[in-house]
Amino acid sequence: MEPARGLQAEGNRSLVETGFWVLLVASVALWWFNTPSGSLTDEATLFTAVGRVTGMVSGFLLLAQVLVMSRVGWLEDWAGADHLMAWHRQLGAPVLVTVLAHTVFIVYGYALSARMTVKAQTLSLLNTSQDMVDAFAATGILVVISLTAVRAVRRRMRYEVWYALHLTAYGALLLGYGHQLSTGTDLQSPVARAYWIALYALVITCLVGGRAVEPLWLNLRHRLRVAAVVPEAQDMFSIYVSGRKLHKLSARPGQFFRWRFLTGEDWSQSHPFSLSSAPNSEWLRLTVNPIGDHTTRLRSLKAGTRVVASGPFGAFTAGRRVRKRTLLIAGGSGIAPVRAVLERMPRFTALIYRAGSAEDIVFRDELDCIAHDRDCTVHYVTGSRHDPGPARLFTPEGLVELVPDVTLRDVYLCGPPGLIAAALSALKELRVPERQIHLDPFEF
Ligand SMILES: Cc1cc2nc3c(=O)[nH]c(=O)nc-3n(C[C@H](O)[C@H](O)[C@H](O)COP(=O)(O)OP(=O)(O)OC[C@H]3O[C@@H](n4cnc5c(N)ncnc54)[C@H](O)[C@@H]3O)c2cc1C
Repeated sequence: MEPARGLQAEGNRSLVETGFWVLLVASVALWWFNTPSGSLTDEATLFTAVGRVTGMVSGFLLLAQVLVMSRVGWLEDWAGADHLMAWHRQLGAPVLVTVLAHTVFIVYGYALSARMTVKAQTLSLLNTSQDMVDAFAATGILVVISLTAVRAVRRRMRYEVWYALHLTAYGALLLGYGHQLSTGTDLQSPVARAYWIALYALVITCLVGGRAVEPLWLNLRHRLRVAAVVPEAQDMFSIYVSGRKLHKLSARPGQFFRWRFLTGEDWSQSHPFSLSSAPNSEWLRLTVNPIGDHTTRLRSLKAGTRVVASGPFGAFTAGRRVRKRTLLIAGGSGIAPVRAVLERMPRFTALIYRAGSAEDIVFRDELDCIAHDRDCTVHYVTGSRHDPGPARLFTPEGLVELVPDVTLRDVYLCGPPGLIAAALSALKELRVPERQIHLDPFEF
């Protein structure tokens, strides 16, 4: 059993959040200390000041955005992939608003003090230096990326296109850097410059570590290859991956890797899949539901195919518990991480496994065997989406009937959006505290 470290994880997250606010305040303080009192005398100086402050804030928020998605191991461990993703989403709108506000207020403030039109001032800025051209280009990139973050737009895009567009955010970061140091009035003192350069250095180091060094090290050390592809129930299948020194892999059940299978068609894509069994020294296992072109092709992988993985990521682990007992709720391919994490849960864990029919259930023997060894209970709930019986189970009354002490348990959920929404709404009505609820959303 994995010891419960949920409270420690909460503490780590609070520390990261505190660090964020302290550095944000420090970034704005650079403007405060650099602005003599009584110097904001007219509209022009006022607008320019707002432009400068929003510039500092947007620069800082953009760095924070990139940091939380750097995939660097220590941050993933501390905060958990789901919280990092949530922070990344929360920061999206403030980045866009402050970048646009910075552009508008600075240009307008400068235009007022130079007694020029906004258009003439914009052209003049663009002619001042390449750094300003780059800064305008960075703003354009951020606007486009922000549009793709809108759920309705994102749903219509292929993941690969969305991902490629998101990668251009690094370009925006670098394009914006030059004008901050060359024209940023508040960044001319040695302390301010050193502070800002240190922030960039931290983020770039984490980015290179998380995106290049750590994956490179993992793959050189473990030399992963497909060992076998094994059909499970219905359409689902498992991929067994073997490699060297797997006992040294620090993955925990419930975590996921991004997998790149080096075949002619798929070498350029990496997709996230959770471990569906606790890692051991012989193999890793992932279990796939073929819902698209890539996942369908994976079924035909040949034994011996080279695999490049990055990870482990995610905090859907047994250590995240804050209570003594646990309830797991899984549906569809969500059973993969839940099956793995069950191995490390305390005794008397309850699992509700929702499936369309008995034929859709995967790992039945494994689940029953673990349940037997660990005094756990598995409730297999089958039936169509419109069946009133299973639907009732995901109401407050239904959940309490099945698991009477549900409010005293940690609840781990992974499955299709409809199931998760129903279960979450029942848990909310039952007033299960948020800190006891742990989600593994299979979405980007
Ligand atoms: C953290 C995490 C863990 C996951 N674990 C599992 C698992 O154990 N078993 C399993 O069957 N599925 C898992 N998934 C889902 C799986 O990654 C997608 O089903 C798969 O990438 C779909 O690829 P596709 O090209 O076949 O489908 P497509 O038809 O291209 O896409 C189907 C859906 O998957 C999304 N998707 C496509 N590519 C990616 C990608 N590279 N990263 C994230 N989302 C993508 C698309 O936006 C779309 O919503 C997991 C997803 C995440 C985010």
